Amino acid sequence: TAVEEASPEIIFQSKLPDIAITNTLPLHRYCFERLPEVADRPCLIDGATGAVRTYAEVDRLTRRLAAALRREPFGLSRGAVVMNLMLNSAEFVLSFFAASRAGAAVTTANPMSTPHDIANQIAASGATVVFTESMAVDKLPAVGGSLTVVLIDARRDGCLHFWDDVMASVPDDEAAAGGGGGGGDEEFDPDDVVALPYSSGTTGLPKGVMLTHRSLSTNVAQQVDGDNPNIGFTADDVILCSLPMFHIYSLNTILMCGLRVGAAIVVMRRFDLARMMELVARHRITIAPLVPPIVVAVAKSDQAAAHDLSSVRMVLSGAAPMGKDLEDAFMAKLPGAVLGQGYGMTEAGPVLSMCLAFAKEPFKVKSGACGTVVRNAELKIVDPDTGKSLGRNQPGEICIRGQQIMKGYLNNPEATKNSIDADGWLHTGDVGFVDDDDEIFIVDRLKEIIKYKGLQVAPAELEALLITHPSIVDAAVVGKQVEPEIGEIPVAFVAKAEGSELSEDDVKRFVAKEVIYYKKVREVIFVDKIPKAPSGKILRKELRKQLQQHHPQA
Ligand code: AMP
Repeated sequence: TAVEEASPEIIFQSKLPDIAITNTLPLHRYCFERLPEVADRPCLIDGATGAVRTYAEVDRLTRRLAAALRREPFGLSRGAVVMNLMLNSAEFVLSFFAASRAGAAVTTANPMSTPHDIANQIAASGATVVFTESMAVDKLPAVGGSLTVVLIDARRDGCLHFWDDVMASVPDDEAAAGGGGGGGDEEFDPDDVVALPYSSGTTGLPKGVMLTHRSLSTNVAQQVDGDNPNIGFTADDVILCSLPMFHIYSLNTILMCGLRVGAAIVVMRRFDLARMMELVARHRITIAPLVPPIVVAVAKSDQAAAHDLSSVRMVLSGAAPMGKDLEDAFMAKLPGAVLGQGYGMTEAGPVLSMCLAFAKEPFKVKSGACGTVVRNAELKIVDPDTGKSLGRNQPGEICIRGQQIMKGYLNNPEATKNSIDADGWLHTGDVGFVDDDDEIFIVDRLKEIIKYKGLQVAPAELEALLITHPSIVDAAVVGKQVEPEIGEIPVAFVAKAEGSELSEDDVKRFVAKEVIYYKKVREVIFVDKIPKAPSGKILRKELRKQLQQHHPQA
């Protein structure tokens, strides 16, 4: 419904009525609010072993871990920061909610990250404790120094073992009695930060996104609370968690929403197509939140017929665009399910819009749309040049306002101001329009980020690295649209030093040595000069145009 008020702003809202939202509880209490009803039901199911932990067990283990975290050597209290540097596991969930109980925030990171990126994030976030696993532990800076490192899957000098050292240090009955030293909640403020994922937003380097108890519980409520929720998850659902919890999509829409409704969550350590299909059949999975590259893999797979996938009633896709053709090819494999898109951005809490076919009383939706704005929120489309708000069917920058958006970027008021304006609107850097049926279509991106398989690549990061090469005078990186399995790849425009014989492979190898796999430069174009505005800003539009004209040699 477009509400045209006295002001010229044209604001779009959900087709579902607003609801009363509880968003003043600590996140762990909000997510486990249904505990009395679901205590004995499965909460986390280990995809590899089939081991089941009930809601009561998960709650008890989080209390116990929180009690340990408040003591030495951790000494966590309100305002502390913990890093979760691991793939999906029950321990990820326990440390996340234990940190929330202890008043701390969790900064999440991909365990495949380079030592350089990990060290930067630890320093920038101020993390004093790292929960990690063997594959990443050697990449941590100065293990045994000021960082307390907890290892979930092995014993090692200088690290504490998650179960044998940390959990074992608090007797179960003591934890149950009160969490070993104060419930923690008395010093709580709903605007305290609880999750601190890193995102580069619309420009520059990755920054800590301050998501508070209030923002995350609001965003969960916008999806699953109320009589006719936007996505009708229930306690009888079995939800697949094949996406990494270190990304906010999985952390919020799968984990927090799943816990809030009391569903069972099947945790896959990492995505694997064959394994995923096996798990769907074995656990009778009803809800599968995916990303476009996985949707493509299923659509193309000839294994789908070999597994009984009939239990799946709902498939969500988000984090990157998915076109109509792909939706149609996928649905041919899972005719019994409803497929719909969500649109999220870390800074937005993250979900801005969600397909209404997931509601209990479903609406008819168009394929290719990425849903309707979530309720208890306002969305507008603005002309990026004039800032004027636009009506239906006119593409412009998507802006969102509501209690779910981030509090700001950590220690970066300047970047915060450039992202959230004085009226509280978060500017997404995405270009889209709202059609006559309130459905949102994303058509372009104003911002720099490149999305490789749904993961963020910040050009600024690659540009800063490229210019450290002695033979590179200047560089700029833009995204190039490729097959839907991937989405976009980073392409580097490089101006090399006079007389240099630097080759495309040299550049690729130089970058590959320094970055995580998905940030590798996949194509190099040598130019005389990087086009720039007088202010020094790279003219990315110009480069994208050049990219279209450029045909790499086979
Ligand atoms: P992240 O913060 O990593 O979740 O990235 C957010 C960005 O991913 C958004 O601002 C969009 O550019 C893109 N994105 C997320 N969901 C969709 C979608 N359904 N369709 C198109 N782009 C999307």
